[in-house]
Amino acid sequence: MQVKRQLLGLPSYKPGKPIDEVKKELGLTKVIKLASNENPFGASPKAAEAIRELAANTAIYPDGYAAVLREKVAQKIGVAQEQLIFGNGSDEIIQFLCRALLDENTNTVTADPTFSQYKLNATIEGAEVREIACKEDGTHDLEAMLAAIDENTRIVWVCNPNNPSGTYIDKASFEQFMKSVPADVLVVSDEAYYEYAIADDFPQSIPLLKTYKNLIVLRTFSKAYGLAALRVGYGVGDADFIAKLDPVRPPFNNTTFAHAAAAAALDDDPFIAECVQKNREGMKLYEAFCEEQGLTYYSSQANFILIDFERSGDEVFDYLLKRGFIIRSGEALGFPTCARITVGSQEENEEILSILKEMLQTQPIGQK
Ligand SMILES: *Cc1c(COP(=O)(O)O)cnc(C)c1O
Repeated sequence: MQVKRQLLGLPSYKPGKPIDEVKKELGLTKVIKLASNENPFGASPKAAEAIRELAANTAIYPDGYAAVLREKVAQKIGVAQEQLIFGNGSDEIIQFLCRALLDENTNTVTADPTFSQYKLNATIEGAEVREIACKEDGTHDLEAMLAAIDENTRIVWVCNPNNPSGTYIDKASFEQFMKSVPADVLVVSDEAYYEYAIADDFPQSIPLLKTYKNLIVLRTFSKAYGLAALRVGYGVGDADFIAKLDPVRPPFNNTTFAHAAAAAALDDDPFIAECVQKNREGMKLYEAFCEEQGLTYYSSQANFILIDFERSGDEVFDYLLKRGFIIRSGEALGFPTCARITVGSQEENEEILSILKEMLQTQPIGQK
């Protein structure tokens, strides 16, 4: 079969290793996955309850308009219902945007390293991808990104906080950026970790939608809300733009169960508050560990931390894997000497840090 030329040589996504596979391979009974930034505390119990109530409702198609969830989200974040589009995860919104805006005559601007899906989907549409190196501290180089925009640029991707560094763009910088980007270039603010970001100067992008019709904000239920298995994310933008985008969306792209669980999870603010608090406590443990061990790390507003172990991230990955922890090597993330670890429960954090301490004792930094 002849596929699009740009598909040739594209790798399949390599996800974090599944727990059961690792157990079997290594003969371990307990394996903990801190690789994909899922919520270590699961989801609000209200979500599972909502699914249980609907468990027999499998014969009828879901509501393609997601009316119940739509109303709840609109109210929660203070926008009109017409400003929302729901995706099978925010990954799918990224796909919609690329499909709707990009082709071989256009280009798109991203940071590098950043979330891999922007480049992948843009490449599939045949667009040129302009990757602008992040600054030393892991943040986007917004000035260089601006300079890369030309008359063929259709989308600029801002990942805030950035995955895999966890670093963020502050309010003043983001607002200045929005002022400077031409009005016909779409800015995507991917805020998958929005709930975890607690810095006082983290941008509030939703109110900016009133001023900037070329802004779309992506949020997801996969991270803090603990619903990654259900695949629900959404975009918030200008109502006219969202209406133009909607035909790209498959008509029944979220399940009934996903809608109901997300709507229920949205009601449980205390659950999110507790998870965010525990995440911060966990983050402090990792930061203290890095300082004590003389390791460089990237300051994170998300639920993961990128640490420079001054050796191949694959070595750190293998060392931890043998001891029952799955993390992400920085090799595939653009930070080859780093590892990205999702902040887990207190017990998980303490355990993984004691393994890392032992690793650093037997193989100190600066020895290779
Ligand atoms: C996890 C993640 C997403 C995708 O989440 P979905 O599960 O598809 O909603 C999007 N952007 C970033 C930066 C992420 O880390």
